[in-house]
Amino acid sequence: MNARVDLHTHTTASDGSLAPAELIQAAAAAGLAAVAVTDHDITAGLAPALAAGTALDIEVVPGVEVSAEYKPGQMHILGLFIDPQSVALNGWLAEVLDGRNGRNVKIVARLLELGVEITLDEVEAEAGGGAVGRPHIAQVLLDNGAVSSRQEAFDRYLARGAAAYFDRPRATPVRTIENIHAGGGLAVLAHCNSLGANDAAELEQAIRGLKDQGLDGLEIRHPSFSPERQATVEAIARKLDLLPSGGSDFHGKAKPQVKLGVGRGKLHVPYAFLEKLKEALARRVA
Ligand code: AMP
Ligand code: FE
Ligand code: FE
Ligand code: ZN
Repeated sequence: MNARVDLHTHTTASDGSLAPAELIQAAAAAGLAAVAVTDHDITAGLAPALAAGTALDIEVVPGVEVSAEYKPGQMHILGLFIDPQSVALNGWLAEVLDGRNGRNVKIVARLLELGVEITLDEVEAEAGGGAVGRPHIAQVLLDNGAVSSRQEAFDRYLARGAAAYFDRPRATPVRTIENIHAGGGLAVLAHCNSLGANDAAELEQAIRGLKDQGLDGLEIRHPSFSPERQATVEAIARKLDLLPSGGSDFHGKAKPQVKLGVGRGKLHVPYAFLEKLKEALARRVA
């Protein structure tokens, strides 16, 4: 069977542009056998996505993506097959969202100090009730004419080190993994490119550390991987016995060059990856 899946996507519950039901519709239309919804820090999109999956007869994997404390780069950990109702996981995510909101208040206050017109209401309206991120602030700056592109908004104001940049509290990797496990999920390291490792040995060492802390899987397919990088990451997954995963990291119009299921065109995530994840989950529960 040559069925294709996509195990990393975003909806309007965070910084994607398709509503959860629209995303599932698009996944079905693209001929995907399964799709995981993995919004940043929030599970609010999962119920409508699962309902749409049932209606359209496409397999929907409930997920989440959380950013952990890490230097020199960024560490994003996916929780796949989480329980959308988990009190433990949602309680922790509420704290994460509090940290995000506190950071956003600081950004808006600094922008006002800099003479840039923006209100928190505008930012929250742009986010549509979901998790509010810097991409929403960038969109408001664009709409208000303060910048002429979303990238300019990051370069001038929002990027690390820029004029209105503030960090937010993040949990350690081990706490992040533990909370994903508490929510019934498998912890999978997303796009390990972003860790900022200097070479393959450093990358392997960082991932080995996470494996020792309970990491279950590794994205070995992501649009950011060159063919060489993909081969390196596949070798690390085999060596460390980490479950293979992958996805497009689809955000809709926020990242228009990345398409659902196929990424920048060459992405292929086989159904066998999902099969292995499900087998591991079944072993864990048994
Ligand atoms: P947040 O989670 O609110 O901190 O926002 C993070 C998101 O902002 C990332 O997922 C990117 O989509 C976007 N982003 C972060 N840094 C940059 C940058 N330097 N240029 C463009 N987009 C960025
Ligand atoms: Fe995002
Ligand atoms: Fe990410
Ligand atoms: Zn993502």
